[in-house]
Amino acid sequence: MPTYEYRCEKCGKKFTLVMRISEHSEKKCKIVCPKCGSKKARQELQPFFANTSKKS
Ligand SMILES: [Zn+2]
Repeated sequence: MPTYEYRCEKCGKKFTLVMRISEHSEKKCKIVCPKCGSKKARQELQPFFANTSKKS
């Protein structure tokens, strides 16, 4: 399943969401920052397929 990286434009928090591509297009406008609850999260990277061994 693809993962999507976002950065909150309000607090700068980076977070990763894992969802299906169809889910992603549905939720595009509903991504909420887990830290401050802002909806101004911006996608950081192109989606890539889950690779849990990769750590920042
Ligand atoms: Zn935030």
